Amino acid sequence: MNYTGWDLRHLRAFRGNLIYQLKELDDLIVTRLIRLVTNKIHIRKEEVVLGHWACAYSPTKQCVYNKLKDPLYDYCLFCSKPDQRV
Ligand SMILES: [Zn+2]
Repeated sequence: MNYTGWDLRHLRAFRGNLIYQLKELDDLIVTRLIRLVTNKIHIRKEEVVLGHWACAYSPTKQCVYNKLKDPLYDYCLFCSKPDQRV
């Protein structure tokens, strides 16, 4: 597509729409990942925090933390490793 003829108002609207759609898609993906966790272990979805490290034992394949019981994210629920690593 060629956006060079678009005025600023259209470009802003297009950008806003893209950001909104990406956010909706991201929410959907996160919801599904959290459901994988709540289907596997006894934890409420509101307590699940998806970490950033790869985790072979996690159903999401990334480390997962309990934000209520482990607010500093010291123990992944599947591999016991902390979120902060050297
Ligand atoms: Zn882990």
